[in-house]
Order: sequence, then C-alpha cells, then structure tokens
Amino acid sequence: MPAGSAAAGVVVVTCMDARVRVDRFGLGSTQVNVLRNAGGRATDDVIRSLVVAWRMLGVQEFLVVHHTECRMMGTTNEQIRRDLAVSTGVDASAVDFLTFTNLHESVEEDVERIRRSPYLGDAVPTSGYIWHLRAQRLEPVVVDRRARAAAGAGRGRTQSPSSVPSGGIWTRPPGKGTGPGRVGGQGKGALPG
Ligand code: ZN
Repeated sequence: MPAGSAAAGVVVVTCMDARVRVDRFGLGSTQVNVLRNAGGRATDDVIRSLVVAWRMLGVQEFLVVHHTECRMMGTTNEQIRRDLAVSTGVDASAVDFLTFTNLHESVEEDVERIRRSPYLGDAVPTSGYIWHLRAQRLEPVVVDRRARAAAGAGRGRTQSPSSVPSGGIWTRPPGKGTGPGRVGGQGKGALPG
C-alpha cells in the first residue's frame, strides 16, 4: 500500500498494561495499528516500527498514549535494578527502563522524540494523550495541528460507533486541536485517574 493511502489509518503507541483499552479510544472505524511496551515509550524499536508503518503501510498519523496508574510511573530505574540484583544477581545498571514521574512530561517527551527522529522527518502528524483509567477517557496533551484522528480520540468512551456524526471521527470540534503545543491542565492530577 503506498504512503498516503486514504484508508491507511493510525499507529497508537501505548503501554502494555491490559487495562488500557485501545478499542475505547473513540477512533471509530479508523484502522488502528497498536505498538505496546512498558509505559508506551518511544524507544528506538518503536521508531523503527513507525518508520515501517509510515513508508510501507501508509499510516497517516501517530498517537502516543500514556495512562494513569502506570506502574512505570510509580517506580524508578534504581528500584528495578535493585530488584533484579536481588532476584537474579545480574547487574542491570546499563539498562534504562524508561520510568517516569510525570505523565504530561513523559507524553511530551515521547511525542517530541518521534517528531525529531531524522528517519521520520516530522512527516507524520503526531499527537499525545493521557488515558484516564477510571474515567475511561483520553486527555489531550499535545495535539498536532495536522492531526485528524485527534478530534475523535478526545471524545473517548462516550462515543459509540452509532453516535458518530456525519464526518465521523474526522470532524474537529470547535476550539480543539487547532494549534500545536500543549492542551489541557498542567502537571499531574488535572483529572481524577
Ligand atoms: Zn502502564
């Protein structure tokens, strides 16, 4: 499938945590390709897959989604390394487990990492969200002004396929996602998890 094909869909980069239900993101009938790892971090291997998704699958948009109550937020590199040292005797000091302390910052960091990748050349609109486990909704953090899936994604669980208006998820709600940069609350706890 050539790049730019209309039906090519999106890639969601998110945490491997089974509580994160990508099918509830409100992406409607969009073809959704999912890349999961601990924390939903934009690692080199995720970048590798995004390049392939863009060039070989014709994917048109990337979404980074981290979530509340993430185990990668409640721990540190040192804690994981210490635990490994005790349980296996191995020295994991060279491994960065990509833990984080602030959800908004981790989302911004990974969106930025994808946008700055020389292999992607900022060619694919990339937005970042926080999935609130308890509220079952997406909070926009960074919305790419070129993004189209973003409009539907922000509606979260409340949008069932039958309630999608004409124009579907591609209809951008007024005042949302019209510019680059941060959206919504600052720091942790803008919404209950
Ligand atoms: Zn997680």
